[in-house]
Amino acid sequence: MKVSRLASSIPPFIVMDVLERAQALEAQGADVVHLEVGEPDFDTPRAVVERANEALAEGMTHYTHSLGRVSLREAIAVHHERRYGVPVDPGRVIVTSGSSPALLLVFLAVCDPGDEVVVTDPGYACYPNLLACAGAVPVRVPIREEDGFQVSVEAVQARIGPRTRAILLNSPANPTGAVLDPGRMAAVADLGVLVISDQIYHGLEYGVRSHSILEFTSHAVVVDGFSKRFAMTGWRLGYAIVPEWLVRPVQKLQQNYFISAGDFVQVCAEVALTRCEADVEAMREAYDRRRRLVVQRVREMGLGLPVEPRGAFYVFCNVSSVCERTGMNVYELCFDILERAHVAVTPGTDFGPGGEGYVRISYATALDRIQVGLDRLARYLEEVGR
Ligand code: PMP
Repeated sequence: MKVSRLASSIPPFIVMDVLERAQALEAQGADVVHLEVGEPDFDTPRAVVERANEALAEGMTHYTHSLGRVSLREAIAVHHERRYGVPVDPGRVIVTSGSSPALLLVFLAVCDPGDEVVVTDPGYACYPNLLACAGAVPVRVPIREEDGFQVSVEAVQARIGPRTRAILLNSPANPTGAVLDPGRMAAVADLGVLVISDQIYHGLEYGVRSHSILEFTSHAVVVDGFSKRFAMTGWRLGYAIVPEWLVRPVQKLQQNYFISAGDFVQVCAEVALTRCEADVEAMREAYDRRRRLVVQRVREMGLGLPVEPRGAFYVFCNVSSVCERTGMNVYELCFDILERAHVAVTPGTDFGPGGEGYVRISYATALDRIQVGLDRLARYLEEVGR
């Protein structure tokens, strides 16, 4: 019985370990406040669900074209032009079963074993593990709270070498909630390396606007999906917009590995793009109220948060003084908070070594529960001493 090197070495998603321990406590009767999961607590907009019932009755239960239904690819292209002012040929849109497969297909299409992709540290936990499928190596560039968790163009440039195949950007970012300054985005685009821009949190911005990488360069890939702003995580639908030369390679990979994205799900996604603006705005406003509460309370607790997060549904706060005082690393601290205060938060180290001393608080939870969770966290901090 032999398990592959990849499967044996791939790290667990720590947030799932936290969630599972929280569930075990709940099974014993504890009331746990969940501030760890990165998933919208809202239900999918009604019009989308209704379209699903119709589409299933209409028999949309088959494979589709490997690139996706033409009408959805056109709707995505129209959406991109309306939102960012950049026209996109629908022929460059590839529909996938979530943005995760889109990332995987793009990495497989551009990387040979040993090739490098520049990623931020901290950054989304799954990037290095998705790159590992292609044998590609993540080259981490630190991002700092003093710099508002913005990407340093000079630091990215310093990491570019002969094996660099791409620079991976994610704005609004998981886990920091930072929205990348358009000037920096343009400067990264000017470095001449293919930019892969994970735009899954677009539409969840508060007082700022996100830009598509295609506003700055055509030598880029957009990865996006329906999970976050449309609260459609369980539907599994995403897409990539790729340069012409990548369409066929990604298509061949999709044909072999996934065949196509779900059939009825694709027509539902058209409804999401065209008829759900009010639902998305209502969710965005609710997130914003929660965000302001978390920012205010975290600062009142004396935790470090120099720059307000402006996107996604995360607050990444500095707890290094608590770690120092208690002698715990941030992983131990998160489990201690869970055991003693019954609040689940994610250790920053889930997102790279640069996350030591930080915790990620997700506000994809009802406001009254967030309040309870923050009250408990404040009491915990009083007990251990800040
Ligand atoms: N990118 C980022 C930054 C994410 O946070 C996530 C989900 N947590 C994904 C991609 C994957 O999303 P999905 O596969 O549901 O589209």
